[in-house]
Amino acid sequence: MTAGRVRIAVIGVGHLGRHHARILSDLDGVDLVGIVDANGARAREIAEIHGTQALTSADLSGAVDAVVVATPTASHAEVARPFLERGVAVLVEKPIARSVDEADAMLAAARTSGAIVAVGHTERFNPAVEAARGRLVSPRFIEVHRLGTFPDRSLDIDVVFDLMIHDLDVILSVVESPVAAIDAVGVPVLTPKIDIANVRLRFESGCIANLTASRISRDRTRKIRFFQPDSYVAVDYAAQELEVWRLVRPTSGLPAIEGGVIPVVNEEPLKRELRDFVDAVRDGRAPTVTGEDGRRALALAEQITERMTTVGGR
Ligand code: NAD
Repeated sequence: MTAGRVRIAVIGVGHLGRHHARILSDLDGVDLVGIVDANGARAREIAEIHGTQALTSADLSGAVDAVVVATPTASHAEVARPFLERGVAVLVEKPIARSVDEADAMLAAARTSGAIVAVGHTERFNPAVEAARGRLVSPRFIEVHRLGTFPDRSLDIDVVFDLMIHDLDVILSVVESPVAAIDAVGVPVLTPKIDIANVRLRFESGCIANLTASRISRDRTRKIRFFQPDSYVAVDYAAQELEVWRLVRPTSGLPAIEGGVIPVVNEEPLKRELRDFVDAVRDGRAPTVTGEDGRRALALAEQITERMTTVGGR
């Protein structure tokens, strides 16, 4: 690092990686030193837009303090490991890796070298989620709908690893209790992988979470609702909206329900995530979403798919 500036490169500039490059090119205290992509023309195109250079991973040796890995999930471990072994900080997109074994190898490399690992669970940085957090005291029931239209990417993995994992991470960060039981059903509809899934988690604390994730829906819905003994907290991730309703018991008379929409200052979650990562690298502290958090969400996603009843052929 020179004069507190963080030298960073983005590896993989497809659908999501190009946004990492856009934000980093404009972030205070950051030098976007290069763009790497298996598709050289794509790397040159994005590098040119942001006034930086197209490089290879080998070129980055000694030239970066940090990298963002936004390649397809199957290559996360292979791409990230050499950097982690050299002590370079890595923000790896979600899911952290293809398997828990791969994630463990990445985290072991990071522990040995002291490298910082952050995982791109972007919803944790959603301003509506952040605003909801202080109002979540003891959720008893959580309902999640994350429905999307059919994409042209990430079809090599079950919808649990692609979409539901965002909500698994958010729930695990709120409900501090081990998972006691998993009930799961999945349907492969348009691909040989699970395209729509419904999962019911029971935590040892008694909290129940019911999650539905789909990539074959007509509309895009991204909502999580928390039911607590005397309040209801609803987050619309996509609209970055928060609604809170509380049961008020007056000393006399009937209980009343009070609340409504809570104002939230909207901001791009990916920008918050990158700012947090860069600050962690500069200050030598843990990022908000650590490698262990990414591993924990992946481990739960693996357990869910192992126990899933598949409906229909695949
Ligand atoms: P994509 O296919 O659009 O882009 C991947 C890019 O990586 C392509 O440009 C490809 O040429 C390049 N690439 C492939 N292998 C490479 C390698 N070994 N080295 C260098 N470059 C390589 O994929 P995407 O939709 O951008 O997804 C990338 C990752 O981001 C996935 O892990 C996905 O799960 C994650 N993602 C996260 C979010 C989020 O909300 N956090 C949203 C979308 C995708």
